[in-house]
Parts: sequence; C-alpha cells; structure tokens
Amino acid sequence: MSKTVSIRGAVTANNSAGEIAQAVTKLVDRIYFKNGITDSEVVNIMLSVSGDLTSFSPARALREAGHNVPLMSCVEPNVDGSLANCIRVMVTAQSEHPISHVYLGGARALRTDITANYAIALDGPSGAGKSTVAKIVAKKLGITYLDTGALYRALGLKCLNEGVSPSDSATVKNCLENVSVDIVYTDGIQRVMLDGEDVSGKIRTPEVSMAASAVSAIPYVREKLLGIQRDIAKSNSVILDGRDIGTVVLPSAEFKFFLTASAEIRAKRRFDELIEKGNKVVYEDIYNDVITRDHNDSTRAVAPLKCAYDAEEIVSDNMTAEEVADKIISDVAEVVGL
Ligand code: C5P
Repeated sequence: MSKTVSIRGAVTANNSAGEIAQAVTKLVDRIYFKNGITDSEVVNIMLSVSGDLTSFSPARALREAGHNVPLMSCVEPNVDGSLANCIRVMVTAQSEHPISHVYLGGARALRTDITANYAIALDGPSGAGKSTVAKIVAKKLGITYLDTGALYRALGLKCLNEGVSPSDSATVKNCLENVSVDIVYTDGIQRVMLDGEDVSGKIRTPEVSMAASAVSAIPYVREKLLGIQRDIAKSNSVILDGRDIGTVVLPSAEFKFFLTASAEIRAKRRFDELIEKGNKVVYEDIYNDVITRDHNDSTRAVAPLKCAYDAEEIVSDNMTAEEVADKIISDVAEVVGL
C-alpha cells in the first residue's frame, strides 16, 4: 500500500548554469529510480541552494528537463561551516517502497551515517558471470566480495556427505541443525569453511550445484545464512552476488544490478569453466542443469530469483566480464564520486 513519504538528497555543483542543471537533474533522476517513483507519484519537490550557487535556479532546471510537478527553490541559511556549492532536495511522494535517500559525490559528506559504506547487490541466474564480474569490481574498487552461492553450496555438500536428500526439508533441517559454515578471507580470497574444513574446492561440482539449488528453496536454510551475509555488509563496502541480495538480504543496498544472459550462453560459460578445471562434463547436461536451476530458483516460494524494482538489468550475452564490471564501476563512481 502506498503512503506519503519525504525523500531527501543532495549534490554539489560548480556555479554554472549547465552544471547546476545537470547535477540537479541527475540527483532527481536517481531519487526517482531508487524509490520506484515517477512524476505521477510526486506531490512536490522543494530545493535549496547554498548562497554561492547564483547562476541558475534548480527548480527551473527540473521544469526544463520535463518534470511536471510543483517545484520550489530557495536559499539555504548561510550557517558557518555548511557545505559549499550544494543543492539539497526534498521530494514528497506517494510510494509503496522503503525510502532511499540519495547523496551524490561531495554531498555524501552531509550524511556519513548512510554513506560511509556502500553495498553493491549483484543478482541473476546461474552462469550469468556474476562471480567473475564481482571479483573484478571488488578488486578495482578495493571492496570486499562475498560469493553467497558458496554458502548454499557448502550446505548442499553437507547434505550429500551425510547422505541426506537436499530437497527433503525435514531431514535437511535435522542435518544442518549444528553445522558450522563460515567465510574467511586469505589474501583477499574468500574461503568457505564447513565444520572447520576448507571446502572451497569441493563445492564446485555439478552435483553440489544441484544440491545447493535444492537446499536453497528451504526457508530454514535461507534464514540460517541471512546473518552471515548481513554481517559482512555491516562494516565494509561490499559486493555480494547471489539471487536475492537486492530483494531480501540487502534490500537497502545503494547499488543493485541484475545480470542475465541467455540459457545457452550461460551453459556454455559454465561448461568451459568446468572443462578448464579438468572436470569431465557434457554440454547438454550442463544446459539441462541451467534450465532446472533457473526453474528452481525463480519458482521457489521463499526469496525467488527476481529483478528488484530498483535494480538495473544488464544483459551480458554480448559483453565480456570486464565490460560488465566497467559498467558497474562507472555507475558507482557517478554516485560515490570516485
Ligand atoms: O551462484 P551459485 O551457482 O554458486 O549458487 C548455487 C545455488 O545456490 C544456486 O543455484 C541457487 O539456488 C542458490 N543460491 C541462492 N541464493 C543466493 C545464492 C545462491 O538461492 N543468494
């Protein structure tokens, strides 16, 4: 159900008409995108500028950019030490989503409580290239990477080791009651520990993939892994890849991407990866696994695979992992001001 909300934001700009217009338009566009709203849901937009921004009215800029809502600009009180060259905004709107305030570039200093760390949620079906992309992004941005699929794989492996059917929720629950699964980083590389053993290598087989997909549909399993994922995001800037990061694990992630590719391309990528690691696999089997896992992941009752309303979809059929990573990095840089 929608209710009336007030969304805050700010951006800095040099005192030229072009820069003011560009900055305020970008700010309001991002507020709309992050909050899933358009002009139709907006009651009004109030803007203030610091006294040094005299070249152009931000309300006029929004009007000229085509926003057809009540707009008003005023001058911010000139308080000692307040941020220079700053445009602040308050958008009042009807929204059914949680509020996302938006602070861009230099204006992020105004709200370090919400801008000190950022999270990138990278969701999508299996084989879309999420982990390759996430590793590149993490390295280039110097942030922590968590491959959340590895956690589900570890629990899938535990079931296989114990001879438990991964789709039998009652037995799985029993089997996982006292299991310990943990993530450690050695030289920046993620290792998955299952009952104290490093299983990072053992979880990368087609059998474990299918077991992970089956256990991941069990609410108890998802609940069990929620805390570990959120803890890692709490005190670091992070990129998490998975299926439900933007929808369930970190719904307030500042950046959300949904990475897809056709089933054929995804199967081919997975096949090449497994062959390179020396596994004996048949393409048709991998393709069928991809189709089955897509179906399992998107039809399960809890946390199904879907693109969040505030996620940007990237179709990677004709893109390399580097290109996808560069796109994500440039989006983050636009906001964070790298
Ligand atoms: O991403 P990866 O293929 O390693 O994930 C293994 C399985 O774990 C997926 O097929 C999916 O069913 C499940 N998974 C999930 N939610 C996540 C990550 C993975 O359900 N966040």
